[in-house]
Amino acid sequence: MATNNILFVTSEAYPLIKTGGLADVAGGLPTALKEQHQDVRIIMPAYREAMRKAEKLGFASFNMEGLPETARLLEGRLPNTTVKIYLVDSPAHFDRPGGPYSDPDNHDWADNAERFAIFARTAIAVATNKAGLDWQPDIVHCNDWQSGLVPALLAQYPKRPATIFTIHNLAYQGHFDSSHFKNLNLPPYLRGIDGLEFHGGLSFIKGGLIFADMINTVSPTYAAEIRTHHFGHGLDGLLNHRADRLVGILNGVDYKAWNPANDPLLKHHFDAHNLEGKENNKRQLQKKFSLPQQSESPLLGLVGRLVEQKGIDLVLSIVPQLVQNNVQLVVLGSGHKRFQAELLQASKDYPGHIAVHVGFDESMAHQIEAGADMFLMPSRFEPCGLNQIYSLRYGTVPIVRNTGGLADTVIDAREENIEQKTATGFKFEQASHEELWRATERALSIYRDKPKVWRQIITTGMKQDFSWEQSAKHYLDLYHLALAKIRH
Ligand code: ADP
Repeated sequence: MATNNILFVTSEAYPLIKTGGLADVAGGLPTALKEQHQDVRIIMPAYREAMRKAEKLGFASFNMEGLPETARLLEGRLPNTTVKIYLVDSPAHFDRPGGPYSDPDNHDWADNAERFAIFARTAIAVATNKAGLDWQPDIVHCNDWQSGLVPALLAQYPKRPATIFTIHNLAYQGHFDSSHFKNLNLPPYLRGIDGLEFHGGLSFIKGGLIFADMINTVSPTYAAEIRTHHFGHGLDGLLNHRADRLVGILNGVDYKAWNPANDPLLKHHFDAHNLEGKENNKRQLQKKFSLPQQSESPLLGLVGRLVEQKGIDLVLSIVPQLVQNNVQLVVLGSGHKRFQAELLQASKDYPGHIAVHVGFDESMAHQIEAGADMFLMPSRFEPCGLNQIYSLRYGTVPIVRNTGGLADTVIDAREENIEQKTATGFKFEQASHEELWRATERALSIYRDKPKVWRQIITTGMKQDFSWEQSAKHYLDLYHLALAKIRH
């Protein structure tokens, strides 16, 4: 494919700011696209934390069409890459403590609609070459509801770039009170149920789903699932209507940041040929979490947002069985207060077995991936999931629910897959306590009784390749399709 100018619109990008998988994608995909000779540039809000971490930050533009004078565009580099990043600097909206979407107490910012509307309008100024940059994208690649207004507002420009909308998680939709149609000065064609109205309110994500030239989500299985009532979050009808524009592209992972052979966040390194370092990481992890340093006790890890989606209640429900079977569990995460409290209580009730750290800690996440024997991911739904892919590379056998990206990345240790040496993990179907425990039991029995088979499962997993290069090529095909749509 020829070189395209691509504007990548995202509300988070690792390592500048991260709450979840979108940040990892925004940190990895643009670099992979650059390696495919694309001129890709990121645009993101100038959050306080991101401003601190961005490299070589300077002013790019003061005067952007359709934006107040208080908004400016800064330009820098995504750290450790050659990818250009524009930060939308509107201090009243973004220069504050807390997260990208919520305050330090985890409540959504009250002005999120205004914040991501100004972000979208700035992206549009860049997309239409009205931001004083003398650069115009051929493709505008939007991600999740925070950028949903971009395809919606761009639709009114006769000569516009092609638009892509990637769904990283359909559960988060950017739903606001209908008064915002007026407050945000949205044009009349965006009103009504054929526009952005949803259950009487304003839905940002509909902007992407209705108006983007092509839509994708982050795994083939999730792309099929979201067209069903069960997984559609009320948008399955619309997604079916646009099914000819909807595809699934599995996320890649950044093996430069996630490689146990040279991960700077680990004390002991290892690879598929030499797992001694993994044993040392396990001991260290047990020590860090004040668990008995027994190499024979299976150690389970879990890293993630502590929310219903991730099946945290299912994990809590198998705690008694884990304890009875002399299993250790280390959890790192933050999220719903109820799950945090119940996990902390479990760690008090069973101090030698369950250890919990509430918070967000990149380096601890790497240490858990490296030190655990198995990784729990019993998600109710999972658009792609990255932790199970990191787990595979770190020799930490994933135990996952057979849904979304988990279904697409883990090969179950059934008899025939073990025989053919293709097994990489353990899968179960229903989101129930019984099924999670049965899958865990299957894993524990092979771990304890069949060390050779266990070793085979580990090394098969470590050799899987989910690097960004493949995914980037699929995105190039998608861009091609979107360009073809607007040219006809
Ligand atoms: P989601 O995007 O639904 O949160 P993913 O598995 O796609 O789930 O991506 C989550 C990313 O965030 C992974 O890189 C994971 O390691 C990281 N992560 C989640 N919670 C934490 C935490 N508490 N501390 C450190 N990293 C975390």
